[in-house]
Amino acid sequence: MSEALVEPVPRVTVRAPAKINLHLGVGSPRPDGMHPLATVYQAVGLYDDVTVTDAPSWSVGLTAPIDGVPLDGSNIAVQAGRALVAHHGIDLAARITIAKGIPVMGGMAGGSADAAATLLALDRLWDLQTSDEDLLRIAGTLGSDVPFALLGGTALGTGRGELVEPLEDRSSVWWVVVLSDEGLSTPSVYQRFDALSPDADPEPRIPDALIAALAEGYTEEVGALLHNDLWPAARDLRPDLVDTEEQLRILGPDGVLLSGSGPTLLMLHEDVEEARSAVAELTERGLRCTVAPGPVAGAHVVTYA
Ligand code: ATP
Repeated sequence: MSEALVEPVPRVTVRAPAKINLHLGVGSPRPDGMHPLATVYQAVGLYDDVTVTDAPSWSVGLTAPIDGVPLDGSNIAVQAGRALVAHHGIDLAARITIAKGIPVMGGMAGGSADAAATLLALDRLWDLQTSDEDLLRIAGTLGSDVPFALLGGTALGTGRGELVEPLEDRSSVWWVVVLSDEGLSTPSVYQRFDALSPDADPEPRIPDALIAALAEGYTEEVGALLHNDLWPAARDLRPDLVDTEEQLRILGPDGVLLSGSGPTLLMLHEDVEEARSAVAELTERGLRCTVAPGPVAGAHVVTYA
């Protein structure tokens, strides 16, 4: 009796991290309507895994159903795939499968991570040998946070966030990530920012002290310098965040921060045991939270078969 030999389907899986902004300076809108940003990104250890295989047409799926993630061509992972084939002028398509570990609409750039992972995964699947420069440029056309998801680590972000430059960061920290049951829409937070800050500086800046504290690895100083210009807008849209923030501060972390446009909140700890006991305490009070290290690597291949 002969057994049919089944050819394995070539597949590549890329893991991409969530991001937070240690400093998020937001300027008044530019003539194109986008907000100029001066930000310090950090990649943290919550991940989406994106697997790609050859297919006759583009499609996207999730390993587990999650509300709020589109499963059609509007998914940013499909847009990333289309942008890559357009760049190379080739006629290929793929099935994209996403295992989400990054909260959806949590201000941690999960969609951007998927776009970055898809670019890298397809580049490897089809051996396109896209230069890093081109990958970053294509990433920047897809969304402000996509180039950083490729880069990872800790980096300066300017323009609308898409121009990234690695920063020296000797710190190694633990973030308690406090999730919210309901997401916050990024455009609505920026709209509220505009209403609340009509005199925003058109050219936001990063404080030199934060860059120096990161280079030295001074966690306490980094904690004291955490800053997010979108905090007042997010508090205005979600007054319940004020109470949660208070609960976090009472635990005495090195710093408390709103992640991006929220509603995820973050607590900074130098010591992992302190971070773990904060999670235990907050979980007992009914909050959903987890621990994530930072900084971590950007999008990287985890399976190549
Ligand atoms: P931002 O990058 O704007 O801070 P976020 O981290 O708050 O975003 P995401 O999880 O990236 O939120 O989702 C933002 C929006 O993008 C959602 O409305 C969602 O419908 C859409 N979206 C498109 N593709 C994806 C994807 N692959 N994963 C998650 N959301 C996606």
